Amino acid sequence: MSTLEIRDLHVTVDEADGSVKEILRGVDLTIASGEVHAVMGPNGSGKSTLAYSIAGHPKYTVTGGTVTLDGEDVLAMSVDERARAGMFLAMQYPVEVPGVTVSNFLRTAKTAIDGEAPKLRTWVKDVKQAMDDLRMDASFAERNVNEHFSGGEKKRHEILQMELLKPKFAILDETDSGLDVDALKIVSEGVNRSLAAVSPGVLLITHYTRILRYIKPDFVHVFVNGKVAEQGGPELAESLEETGYDRFLAPA
Ligand code: ADP
Ligand code: MG
Ligand code: MG
Repeated sequence: MSTLEIRDLHVTVDEADGSVKEILRGVDLTIASGEVHAVMGPNGSGKSTLAYSIAGHPKYTVTGGTVTLDGEDVLAMSVDERARAGMFLAMQYPVEVPGVTVSNFLRTAKTAIDGEAPKLRTWVKDVKQAMDDLRMDASFAERNVNEHFSGGEKKRHEILQMELLKPKFAILDETDSGLDVDALKIVSEGVNRSLAAVSPGVLLITHYTRILRYIKPDFVHVFVNGKVAEQGGPELAESLEETGYDRFLAPA
């Protein structure tokens, strides 16, 4: 049982013109193992900034607040240390890794996170199983990471990583964007398998309620203007489906 605790998190970014803009304005969020927290909100509200800040992306400067994993200061950790501590980020815009195949990438990541290389026979079997479950062709393993991946392939690749790396906490940023219904179902089933297998805490960032039909959230947080404006259970997502985000936005 683990707890990821975000307390009064403030984050800025440096704008191209040299000015500094505050994006996160006091985020509070606590996630325990096995819990799914949906973070929903309008475009530009800072959802991805929250994900990148927890992951340690250098573009984002934490100016206040804390992020702890079982009491350990996550913000003091390097990006690698965060991964070894069990944090996993599936990015909204995954980067290409030229010349590194999916197969090598996964084995290298697994070795780095576990501190030892996985046993070859079980590893090969596990990779094959996870790829079959996600309806990925075996040839996918020999492609370079994110190079010419379609939107759907990127998302499947993220969930493939999640299933094999078995993180304590997974942050999934718009894993549903650009997926058709069939792909959404396959990807969601992958997340649900991970939940059943290793009970990670999941921060599921999404703009739309549609993915929540497949992945049942325990808590829903409405994110507006850099912080949590309202929180509730799954029923909150249903009310958002009907009313949208208008009632959370300041009148024009
Ligand atoms: P969301 O994921 O909710 O759509 P983002 O976190 O992507 O929101 O963006 C929140 C705000 O921060 C936006 O106004 C966006 O333009 C700004 N922003 C995010 N990342 C950067 C960056 N790297 N440089 C400058 N501005 C950024
Ligand atoms: Mg956005
Ligand atoms: Mg975003």
